[in-house]
Amino acid sequence: MCVFCKIIAGEIPSKKAYEDDDVLAIYDINPQAPVHIVFMPKTHRMTCADDVNGDNAEIIGKIFVAIAKVAKELGLSDGYRVINNCGAAAGQTVPHIHFHLLAGKDGMSESMI
Ligand code: 5GP
Ligand code: ZN
Repeated sequence: MCVFCKIIAGEIPSKKAYEDDDVLAIYDINPQAPVHIVFMPKTHRMTCADDVNGDNAEIIGKIFVAIAKVAKELGLSDGYRVINNCGAAAGQTVPHIHFHLLAGKDGMSESMI
């Protein structure tokens, strides 16, 4: 089982930022910005953005609905970033698709693209 599946199963504790039937969001254990939350589907279905297709894309929309909800709840009106690291060369370490929500001074100080 991957580390995120263990968190979803409750085998590894985490600080939850959001949860519904399909999506879990947790505060990252090693934050890279003042606000750093990781959003994931509750079932292990895709590794990263590369695996998204017409048959499985619905969960991606649900994740982005959750991101918008949490961003509003946290008052991130100054802006935020959403990042999917796809593949080891892009820095991916957990092979369970997830999206980083980054906000705050450190997360916004420079453009990455
Ligand atoms: P990736 O590098 O795969 O895009 O992102 C994986 C993220 O998961 C990293 O930012 C890492 O800090 C976070 N992470 C790894 N293990 C744990 C854990 O056990 N708990 C929490 N909250 N975050 C974790
Ligand atoms: Zn998993």
